[in-house]
Amino acid sequence: MKPEIAVLGSVWTNDVLGALDGQFTCHFPARMAQEERAAFERDIAPRIRAVLTTGTVGLDASGAAVYPSLEIVSVHGVGVDAVDLEAMAARGIVVTNTPDVLTEDVADLAVSLLLAGSRRIPLLDRYVRAGAWEEKRPLTPARSLRGKVVGIYGYGRIGQAVALRLRAFGMEIRYYQRSEGPEPALRCASLLDLAAASDFLVLATPGGAATRRAVDAAVLDALGPEGTLVNIARGSVVDEAALVAALGEGRLGAAALDVFEDEPRVPGALRAMDNVVLTPHVGSFTVETRRAMARLAVGNLEAHFAGRPALTPVG
Ligand code: NAP
Repeated sequence: MKPEIAVLGSVWTNDVLGALDGQFTCHFPARMAQEERAAFERDIAPRIRAVLTTGTVGLDASGAAVYPSLEIVSVHGVGVDAVDLEAMAARGIVVTNTPDVLTEDVADLAVSLLLAGSRRIPLLDRYVRAGAWEEKRPLTPARSLRGKVVGIYGYGRIGQAVALRLRAFGMEIRYYQRSEGPEPALRCASLLDLAAASDFLVLATPGGAATRRAVDAAVLDALGPEGTLVNIARGSVVDEAALVAALGEGRLGAAALDVFEDEPRVPGALRAMDNVVLTPHVGSFTVETRRAMARLAVGNLEAHFAGRPALTPVG
């Protein structure tokens, strides 16, 4: 009999669903109406052995409690802050994610945001479209990147891939994370020190309790009125109200953001600001990377049910 699995989230393309279908009996609880859901939880959930979920949907302890036979949670994404890892460990449930396969595309987006923010590409695009160029409306020059310092908060796979790219722009790299990291001479003593030393601050840490609102008013003030914040990590890493205030009061120069505290809701104040670039959490959203992530997420389930160790277990 095929193992029964619950599939959460809405990123699944037909080729992934086709690949799953051959090996698993799939259930989609989020698509069920209330009555159907109650019947599913009563009759089917006790047989569910795996959950396939996304980095943003995750699985908390109460969600997992519905599945008493759960063996594995396969996350489509590298961030596992939406999964209650302690609760899963206590039940002996394996958690897997999809590291590495998305690193390059997420780093590309971080650099794209940094460039778009510093050279104000969206603003200039609107300027041309609105006919302001023909009307010769005044424009102020942007600032160049060469010789500027980029601070990277979280110097892991993505952080280092961002550094590799930005070195080619003639930028100096600094970073902060808890461990020493691969280039100790470039490591600042704290996030606050990093922000004070940087013209651009790129966030590339995991989300979760340890980084919650780490980028607060003091960090934003240390980055300063000429500074730019780039966030491709998680919205939870930034105190969004403090960010809106710092940008609005001119204490922070600009922000380029892919992630937000309450996605998909983005504060109206941020949407209204010309010195802010916004993208809808799309760091890994390319055809190639999403295909590779899906292959790895499904591959983890296949390995587990074939009696082999998961390909990319967390921790
Ligand atoms: P990684 O290789 O594990 O790197 C994370 C780095 O953050 C590590 O070097 C780690 O070093 C540091 N870190 C962890 N906790 C920290 C803390 N409390 N304070 C300071 N530094 C901390 O992970 P990755 O593959 O680069 O991915 C990083 C994150 O990017 C993911 O967790 C996810 O949230 C985000 N992401 C976003 C998108 C998107 O679409 N925007 C896509 C993919 C990933 P220490 O442990 O030594 O501190």
